[in-house]
Amino acid sequence: MLENQKADLIQSKAILSSIKEGADTWFGLRYNMNLYRGCQHGCIYCDSRSACYRMDALDHIYVKENALELLEKALAGKRNKGTIGFGSMNDPYMPLEAQYQLTRGALEIICAYRFPIHIITKSDLVVRDIELLRKISSIYAAVSFTITTYDDDLASVLEPHAPVSSKRFEAMKKLSDAGVYTGVTLMPILPYINDNPENIRQILVAAKANGAKYVIGAMGLTLREGSREYYYKKLEVHFPGLKSKYERRYNSSYSVKPEQHKLLYKVFYETCAELGLATKMNFYSSKETSDQFEQLTFNI
Ligand code: SF4
Repeated sequence: MLENQKADLIQSKAILSSIKEGADTWFGLRYNMNLYRGCQHGCIYCDSRSACYRMDALDHIYVKENALELLEKALAGKRNKGTIGFGSMNDPYMPLEAQYQLTRGALEIICAYRFPIHIITKSDLVVRDIELLRKISSIYAAVSFTITTYDDDLASVLEPHAPVSSKRFEAMKKLSDAGVYTGVTLMPILPYINDNPENIRQILVAAKANGAKYVIGAMGLTLREGSREYYYKKLEVHFPGLKSKYERRYNSSYSVKPEQHKLLYKVFYETCAELGLATKMNFYSSKETSDQFEQLTFNI
């Protein structure tokens, strides 16, 4: 348990939320779930601190004790085998997962019910579940590692309790070598901090070298009431003078784009093309899976 962080066990009423077909154009999700409430990684830019989500404190973790029971019931009643996303409001492999193993338990259930999955994480703990991920890959499994900076020292400032970027790249390589479809979510890009072409290039080159098949990039960040105040407080601590620069340039804008965001996108697309990295993911397709299954049956 990280210092100054609390965890409480709670009972949840529901675990799986549905997403309208076609609505998630980034990851192709049809369902999403959060097995925990709160997140231990403590990223200074985290949107989950926004007032609209009504969290008491992001680092106060609630462990949904009955999550697996609820998940099994929900999947048993579902005909539509759409992709299940893990954790939009937290990291499914935050340190507490090593102890509670809710993500692992959910993967076991999902594997038994043959649903496709997409995981976004900043943690190398995901490697613990490599065998399960390999099995689910026969349906569809994608693991995206969020990487914002190539520089481990900067990563320790921006994402203080998450494994540093080089650890994430190592984990990516292990998953990729095991045949799991993996890539990078390159976001957020923070004005005057990690918004330089060299950083984008270094991440892309390392992604390619470590087996990423795709990189999804967004050159900017979003800030709103709750997340903005926390972010500005951290800017004052780690980047003296930056807070007033942000206030002058962005005031209370939700969408915060680096001055040179067009150049960053150019570098991003050109480097991806040069390295043969896709800038969009392949989504799960039930047709492909049944074709693969038929092929497998025929071959046997
Ligand atoms: S890992 Fe994600 S959810 Fe957790 S603190 Fe960082 S940005 Fe927020």
